[in-house]
Amino acid sequence: AAKDRGLGLIEVFDDAASHRSLDRLGLRSDLLGALEGDQFAVRYQPICDLGSRQVVAFEALLRWTHPQRGPVPPDVFIPLAEETGAIVPIGHWVLEQSCRELARWSGRTGKRIRVNVNLSPVQLQQPHLARELLDIVQRSGVDPGDVCLEVTEHSYLRDDVTESAAVLRSAGLHFALDDFGTSYSSLNYLKWFPIDLLKVDRSFVGGVAVSDTDRGIVRAVLAIADSLRLGVIAEGVETEEQRAVLMDLGCAWGQGNLLSIPLTPDDAAELIADRHSLAAS
Ligand code: C2E
Ligand code: MG
Ligand code: MG
Ligand code: MG
Repeated sequence: AAKDRGLGLIEVFDDAASHRSLDRLGLRSDLLGALEGDQFAVRYQPICDLGSRQVVAFEALLRWTHPQRGPVPPDVFIPLAEETGAIVPIGHWVLEQSCRELARWSGRTGKRIRVNVNLSPVQLQQPHLARELLDIVQRSGVDPGDVCLEVTEHSYLRDDVTESAAVLRSAGLHFALDDFGTSYSSLNYLKWFPIDLLKVDRSFVGGVAVSDTDRGIVRAVLAIADSLRLGVIAEGVETEEQRAVLMDLGCAWGQGNLLSIPLTPDDAAELIADRHSLAAS
């Protein structure tokens, strides 16, 4: 009987697995028309001074609403867009939208605000990437120094992308190393990529108030940032305890649901125009 149950289980798993890959195939082809079909939107999550809660920047986060299936999470569709190459035009579109919003925010206040846009390693491999991104930024009229590209470490990226990065960096754009600490090559990356900011992954931030290990890791990241003169943003700040510990450790900036969830462009504009700072809840 145990054997029967075992076989039954295998069938169930097989079924689920083939279902999942069909699902991926369907989504992958649907993704190709999503840009023209107006199915994407960008949300903007505030990045704040942890002490004053002043908004210093927004991270642009892509959202896809599938006409039949509803919202599809980025962790599902971004890898598919990377496989097909669709991430290249999609990424250009996200930067265009973000620069347009940034121009609108700065028009409303005299204050300086930045926008952070995620850049896929697949985009970084495109031969004309730097020129294309610079065209988008320059056409929008925003100061290139107010645009920060968030990159993640990948073992297959090396010298071929350093040139694009150097061109973008010398035009004034900034780079942040996203999800810092989650990949084996993190430290190596700092040697050859022009990084200005580290984003501490939320897997460490989540434990900072309760785990000596997580707190020790965050303290070490802050020490590395300090000696290399890099800024640090803590990702996924969800509680007041985490905010207090992070400030205590000397982390200047944070982002997370405690401060604000990702906002529509209108809500982001309103936040900037009204108070520019997120009240304690
Ligand atoms: P990421 O760049 O590390 O973005 C931060 C993620 O953490 C976002 O997930 C955000 O919604 C989530 N987050 C923020 N605060 C909290 C919190 O307090 N708690 C928790 N649990 N999560 C929080 P999201 O929007 O689902 O995006 C997931 C990933 O998809 C991003 O991770 C990024 O790697 C990728 N992504 C999103 N938009 C783009 C894009 O335009 N281009 C590219 N290439 N990748 C993107
Ligand atoms: Mg990011
Ligand atoms: Mg991240
Ligand atoms: Mg991520």
